[in-house]
Amino acid sequence: MSEISLPEDATATIPAAPSEPWTLSPGPSPLAPGLYLVATPIGNLEDITLRALRVLASVDRIACEDTRQTAKLLSHFGLRVPTVSYHDHNETGRASELIAALKSGGRIAVVSDAGTPAIADPGSVLVREAIAAGVTVYPIPGANAALSGLIASGLSTESFAFHGFLPSKEGARRTTLETLRTTLASGQLESGSLNPGKDGTPTTHLFYETPHRILGALEDVVAVFGPHHRIALARELTKLHEEFLRGSAAEVLATLAARPSIRGEMVLMLDGTITQSQDNASTKTIADEVTHLIRTEGLSEKDALKRVAKSRGLGKSEAYREWQRTQSQKR
Ligand code: SAM
Repeated sequence: MSEISLPEDATATIPAAPSEPWTLSPGPSPLAPGLYLVATPIGNLEDITLRALRVLASVDRIACEDTRQTAKLLSHFGLRVPTVSYHDHNETGRASELIAALKSGGRIAVVSDAGTPAIADPGSVLVREAIAAGVTVYPIPGANAALSGLIASGLSTESFAFHGFLPSKEGARRTTLETLRTTLASGQLESGSLNPGKDGTPTTHLFYETPHRILGALEDVVAVFGPHHRIALARELTKLHEEFLRGSAAEVLATLAARPSIRGEMVLMLDGTITQSQDNASTKTIADEVTHLIRTEGLSEKDALKRVAKSRGLGKSEAYREWQRTQSQKR
């Protein structure tokens, strides 16, 4: 496994605030009315695009996931534009207010705290409503953690599937990984995102993960896909301590587990290849274990489920839900 971290003087340093506010040319013509989805940096402020700055400087208002976070960005670039909050909890209500302004010819930008809006971040409700109201929607592309991690992962970029965050609950996370593995192993192409690449290259599977859940997630990857499964973990992308851990699931887990603390944002990437030996090494689903206990120990379904819940550290109702889910996936 290779472990690469950027040296202290790498180019990933955050640039100092410009001494003079940015002077932006107004562009070829005034900004057209419409909804602008503006990507912002995921760490390194140099990753804002010139077009993003021009759009942010020219809109009537910016709808922000967190107005305080966006205020820092705007102040860094010397921009003064009215902001309004637009987040998971007020997305639907705020959308109608913004759509009314857009329908009367407004220019509104949407930004999230970092990266591309509407990717594991607010934005998609407003986009759908804008389209329905006949408002023009403009993507202003830029930084995105999943794609930045993918292109330097060494895993296949020919075909990839982005799954957002893994579930926060342990049982649901295990079931998600088991379902993915079962689907890959059986070659069932349940959705377009699981299609292999053109020349049969495997699909790379991308997940967002948090520092406090990553060890549990990697333990599940080892248990479900086997210790030798090829993975990559991208941490602190575009920042001073950017790091890629590439290798087998067990190696990456051991490297992280040996650290006194785990910090930073991260993207977990799994190779889509399931080999025969990994197939044998994989663990069973809740439904498999329940069936096994009924057959081998003659337990009732209820007692078998209770036993499996206990062995997996799950509550009875959580185990029951997971069991129902794995059962229905088998049908
Ligand atoms: N909209 C963002 C994008 O375009 O990437 C993603 C927002 S999502 C709420 C935040 C998650 O993205 C983090 O928990 C982490 O998994 C990933 N992420 C964001 N910035 C990152 C970075 N600099 N390095 C690695 N992962 C990052």
